[in-house]
Amino acid sequence: MRGRGGGSYGRGRGSRGYASSSAHHSQGPGRGGEGGGTGGRLRHPPHLKGREIGLWYAKEQARIREKEDKETRPKIELSPSKRAKITELLGSLERHSKASIPTGAAAINDSHVMRRYRQNVESNVNAAAIRAGLRPGDIVGLVRNSEWDESLKNDLERKQSSPKYQTMMRFREKLPAYQFKDEFLKLMRENQVIVISGEAGCGKTTQCCQLILDEMIQSGNGSLCNIVCTQPRRISAVTVAERVTEERDEQIGRNSVGYSIGLESRIPERDKGTILFCTTGVVFKYLIDDPKLTKYSHVVVDEIHDRDVLSDFLLMILKDLVNLRPDLKVILMSATLNADKLSNYFRHCPRFNIPGSTFPVTEYFMEDVLLQTSFTFETNKRPQQRRCRGKNPRKSEDQGKSEDQKFKRMLESHVRKLERDKTYPRHVLKELIKPEAEELNLDLITSLILHICETDRDNGAILIFVPGWDQISKLSTQLQSCCNFSGCSILIIPLHSKLPTVNQKEVFSRPPSGRRKIVIATNIAETSTIDDIVFVIDTGRIKITNFDLQRNLETRDTEWVSMANATQRKGRAGRVQPGICYHLYSKARENTFESFKKPEILRKRLEEVVLQIKTLNLGMTRPFLKRLLDPPPYKSLELAIQRLIQLHALDSDENLTPLGFHLSHLPMDLQTGKMILMAGIFECVDPILSIAASLSFKDPFYIPLGLGQEKNVDRARRELGDGSKSDHLTIVRAIEGYQRAQSQNRERDFCYRNFLSESTVNLLMNMKKQLAEHLHQMEYMSTATVDDVEHNVNSDNIGIVKAIICAGLYPNIATVNVRVRMDGSLGFAKIRTREDGKVYLHPKSVNCNENIFESRYLAYFQKMKTSFLSLYDTTMITPFPLIFFGGQLSFRKEKNLGVVSVDQNLEFLMDEDVFDLVQALRKHLDEFLEEKIANPGPTCWHELSKEGALMRAIIELITAEYKEMLGEGSASDSDSDDDIIA
Ligand code: ADP
Ligand code: MG
Repeated sequence: MRGRGGGSYGRGRGSRGYASSSAHHSQGPGRGGEGGGTGGRLRHPPHLKGREIGLWYAKEQARIREKEDKETRPKIELSPSKRAKITELLGSLERHSKASIPTGAAAINDSHVMRRYRQNVESNVNAAAIRAGLRPGDIVGLVRNSEWDESLKNDLERKQSSPKYQTMMRFREKLPAYQFKDEFLKLMRENQVIVISGEAGCGKTTQCCQLILDEMIQSGNGSLCNIVCTQPRRISAVTVAERVTEERDEQIGRNSVGYSIGLESRIPERDKGTILFCTTGVVFKYLIDDPKLTKYSHVVVDEIHDRDVLSDFLLMILKDLVNLRPDLKVILMSATLNADKLSNYFRHCPRFNIPGSTFPVTEYFMEDVLLQTSFTFETNKRPQQRRCRGKNPRKSEDQGKSEDQKFKRMLESHVRKLERDKTYPRHVLKELIKPEAEELNLDLITSLILHICETDRDNGAILIFVPGWDQISKLSTQLQSCCNFSGCSILIIPLHSKLPTVNQKEVFSRPPSGRRKIVIATNIAETSTIDDIVFVIDTGRIKITNFDLQRNLETRDTEWVSMANATQRKGRAGRVQPGICYHLYSKARENTFESFKKPEILRKRLEEVVLQIKTLNLGMTRPFLKRLLDPPPYKSLELAIQRLIQLHALDSDENLTPLGFHLSHLPMDLQTGKMILMAGIFECVDPILSIAASLSFKDPFYIPLGLGQEKNVDRARRELGDGSKSDHLTIVRAIEGYQRAQSQNRERDFCYRNFLSESTVNLLMNMKKQLAEHLHQMEYMSTATVDDVEHNVNSDNIGIVKAIICAGLYPNIATVNVRVRMDGSLGFAKIRTREDGKVYLHPKSVNCNENIFESRYLAYFQKMKTSFLSLYDTTMITPFPLIFFGGQLSFRKEKNLGVVSVDQNLEFLMDEDVFDLVQALRKHLDEFLEEKIANPGPTCWHELSKEGALMRAIIELITAEYKEMLGEGSASDSDSDDDIIA
């Protein structure tokens, strides 16, 4: 029951939760969520003028806010019997610590994780020494083995007489890269580093590595040749390896060719005379153990235009390495690269452009598409997609407007020219100039596909580039429901980086005869060869992460592609026959494209980057970053280091902590990573993995087309959320509900009623399995089964699940204030964060429009600025999780009140003796977590064990607090869970 006396936390506020009544007297009704409390009777003194008035209000508001914050500080109390139990527990924990059981520092130091961690730190020192400049002569690469040289040579000669090899060779010989093999090999012999460019499809990726290997083998140097070739995506590493294996009439992993893409690999069995295709991340794994890459004679960095963070790192490391290993050859390749810049970076190394191309690709622009399809845009229809940003997403609104105007002028003059030239009929130009022609239109894509089906009778495969999963999912639904493709049956295959590799591979198989394959992909398809693609439809959009340094905010924006992207996309058509590329933008729009997108390192938060540098032994962060091809701004590095220290991934001296070491091995952002580790320790894996999967990908809801549908979706969310005041738990409920419905064969209906995308739910469930696999590998789970009972001891305890959400998301905490109006009703909730001040809840959040908050703290994951700075997803949490899993605790006396603050920010009232107990528990918890991080393993819940007793006590406190907040506890109930505290 709520509102009962006794002064415990959360009481005395009735069912309204945290409402500040102070404003009641000074303010009168606020002006809704936007007003900032200046309405009502608040009036500035009449003698103030101009700016002074504004300053007065600002000051006044700050004062009121401070007062409100003070008055709404929750008081945390513990009943005498609970205090006694905690005191007893603390005593027994002390005794445990003194006993001979290896605990604390000793256990930590002895664990295998710590051994690996220490090795890492030590090799850090070695790597630094190497970078500091060992004598080049000291270093040996591969060692010659004459027997091997001979047998590799014989093997190759034998192979060359096989009919399959010869058939393939007839194809290979026609590729431009092969035709220029002598020039390429000569350059290769005479230089240590070279930059190779050449049109997509000319044979760079498949031929260059083979040319090198074959020459080495034929010249009797086979044992001195191991080539590693990096690809920006897992999928391209696998397909290229498969293609090259086929060309060499070999078996993958059995002879000379293999691949490695993290968890999956087929490394060549023989250890000399090989080519390994891998993702850049894999090379870094090798670098940890072998900083000189002594196993390799050639490093080929492919698709270098991609410029992801890791490839930029790799370039810098290679730049050092070529000095230390004169025997190492480095080849940088791409269809669309900024060759000058790269060549300059590598001391003006030579460049070679492979002339010629294989099959011609005809290009069409929006004007041609409109002509061919006779499509017309509906002018008053609600736009399906927000307009794309121009070149620079960070530009101010004014700049944006002037750029829009500039573009409009450009389009108008383009259209006038077309009019003069009479190239296109009037009706086409009328459509082209409509603003809707600049929006991503799925109906237009459907019309274009229909047009292709009508005109091409050979069922040539189509590849469509869209910005993200939303469009993949909408377009496939739309195409599936459209039955009239001129009698041709279609096979739709989605391609997205979050799809498991097995599904990704489906893309490459030929469809059954009589069916047309339609691949709907994001930019991940830009670098792979799907050999049967004849048509490419390029929407010209790309989803890109941007980092706004001023606001310390990362955003995901849909933008126009760069010329480099457009060229790559076009190149995907016509790999084995002439092809066609339809660009769904006008030629005028293409003229505004920048040549390349900014490299990833300038568009990202640097936390993960810094962690990578620390884990990969790349030395000091600041000097390291300065030497990159494009060094990131200093301020963003400082922000990253601060945040890593807050997350305990680095210690205060900026050294990697064991937690940081773990997090750097998880393929997700740091907060989500921390959340799943904590879920492993607190045994509430299933719900937290649902949350982690959706935070790393997207939530499973979709908004159907049609007016007002958003409201229906919001309602469905709220119903699923079931009063949990948590967007994260809403997702958990959605997935649980889906699974229940599935067991009754009514999952379709469940998805339909709740506006869930079934394919996204399935993807999330798949990702949960992969996450469980990681926890299993890291030994936090004894099996990789998501719903294993042993790892879900606390999964039904909402208080604990929310505490783990908080543990992961901290320091992303916002506070809520709700004022009581003069008439006693509640005002709008006002949300603030420490760094930004006032923020808003995104309308899709289940907490938006809510004004009853039983606790005034919200943990959030995503904060983004659209029209307002909004929190996209929030979970209401109670004080104990903040105290146990938040930052530094400190205590002070304010008159006769005890005040505890977390990170000098969030404040609670607490008597000093209660604080002493809580602080001691927190200290034990920190020690325990540190030990668990260093010594992974399932948690022992036995009450006689040290960890069992401690964990039970903490869980009990959090649970009781949560129940009490919901009004499920009773005044004496603090004593009713006796059995939990050992
Ligand atoms: P580049 O790297 O220069 O873009 P690739 O070496 O990837 O070119 O491909 C060269 C040619 O080999 C392509 O034009 C295509 O004809 C053929 N090819 C490449 N990969 C495959 C594949 N997986 N299946 C069939 N043909 C392929
Ligand atoms: Mg290539």
